[in-house]
Amino acid sequence: MSTSVATFPNPSQDFISLCQSQLSLLTTRLKPDWTGIYLTQENKEGTQTNLIPVVFYPPTDNDWSRDNPQNLVLADSSYSFKDLPGLPGGNLAGIDLNLEQTIIQSPEQPQNAPYQLVLPLMHQEVMIGFLVIERKHLPWQPEELTQVKTIARTLAIAGLLDRRQNWYQEQLTQQNLLKQQESDRLHDLFHQLRNPLTALRVFSKLLLKRLFKDEKSSAIVDNIIRESDHLEELIKSFDNDLENNSVNPNILTLNAATAVPSPSLNGANELTLVAVNVKDILEPLLVSAEPIAQEKGIELTSDIPQKLSDVYTNFQALREVLINLIDNAIKYTPKGGQIKIELGLLSVIEEKTYQGIAISDTGLGISPEDQEHIFERHYRGIQEKGDIMGSGLGLAIVKDLIDQMHGIIEVLSPIDAREKKGTKFLVWLPLHNQ
Ligand code: ATP
Ligand code: MG
Repeated sequence: MSTSVATFPNPSQDFISLCQSQLSLLTTRLKPDWTGIYLTQENKEGTQTNLIPVVFYPPTDNDWSRDNPQNLVLADSSYSFKDLPGLPGGNLAGIDLNLEQTIIQSPEQPQNAPYQLVLPLMHQEVMIGFLVIERKHLPWQPEELTQVKTIARTLAIAGLLDRRQNWYQEQLTQQNLLKQQESDRLHDLFHQLRNPLTALRVFSKLLLKRLFKDEKSSAIVDNIIRESDHLEELIKSFDNDLENNSVNPNILTLNAATAVPSPSLNGANELTLVAVNVKDILEPLLVSAEPIAQEKGIELTSDIPQKLSDVYTNFQALREVLINLIDNAIKYTPKGGQIKIELGLLSVIEEKTYQGIAISDTGLGISPEDQEHIFERHYRGIQEKGDIMGSGLGLAIVKDLIDQMHGIIEVLSPIDAREKKGTKFLVWLPLHNQ
């Protein structure tokens, strides 16, 4: 026997195979002229339940008009039996669908009409569809009814299990997605913690140099350095554990407020954009960056115009962006190199005026292949095999924040074409009041 199968996203292939085998059984034993299975399916808006033909025999080549019962609608319910072959032509109103098994058998047999049974596929008061079976010329016998009922019950249980499994699968996928988001958030948090920590250590070392005569104060600063080192080790090992999936991010439920001081990473909350003078962000950052660069033997200079228009941006997010770009410039520029930060560049892009911030270094440069991927999470390119530590998150965070601020980031490398070195990052932000 061959049954026609209409495929729908909801029922699994296993369940459809079961429907086919049960119809095959019915056909062999009871010799019906027509039999079919319909499943209920909600429309996209979830406002109406429709019946979807899933398996039927003999196949009618999608000719749903066979014995068309003309849009039967169950009174006071949302079941719409539209274009449904095989259902009795009478009014279905008044059928008690709460009965465990409702059987509809046409009471008065019109001339030449088949004897028809319609059994709701119902288990634990949940109806998942109908089994319809009809036979011309020969009424159904009580023992045959029992057989059809048994099959309808089997299908109802299997169908419910199938739907439940579908639901669990969806939940699992959603949970995995949430887990991934939380894990990304944790990574971002650790990444953000590391920069101020580095600054703290450098400041403590500077302080130590100045306090060499005062033993008591030196001991205190020593402690600060030791504790900062300890904190950094903890963050590193936590980060590694997270990488190896041995920390369950669910134990640290973070929300946007606790995860990130203010700028929203991963697009959790929309950033508030206001008028900002980039100078107000950069100048305090330079106070921390200069000693770090100095300690590495790098010259850090800046070119800040006296008069600088405001940009339309988010203060905390732009601060995070600049911290990361300056950190990279220092990290990937060897001793003796130079870093230059320029503010106040201007460019018109698609009739909109943008103000640019340029961070240039004389460091290793970034190969064209790596440039294509550096904004991806955890991508480190050539540095993956090098000695300079990092998690490959900085630029992914930068890109995410700049997108949220409706800005643009560009990378140019090498700056010095002859010596093939140096990198320039350009950040463009829309001017305020345009
Ligand atoms: P971290 O998460 O600690 O910032 P990271 O610095 O490796 O680690 P990103 O800031 O995302 O991660 O940078 C990605 C990669 O881009 C780096 O590993 C490096 O290969 C390259 N890169 C970024 N900035 C520079 C730069 N100024 N000079 C040379 N290479 C750079
Ligand atoms: Mg970095």
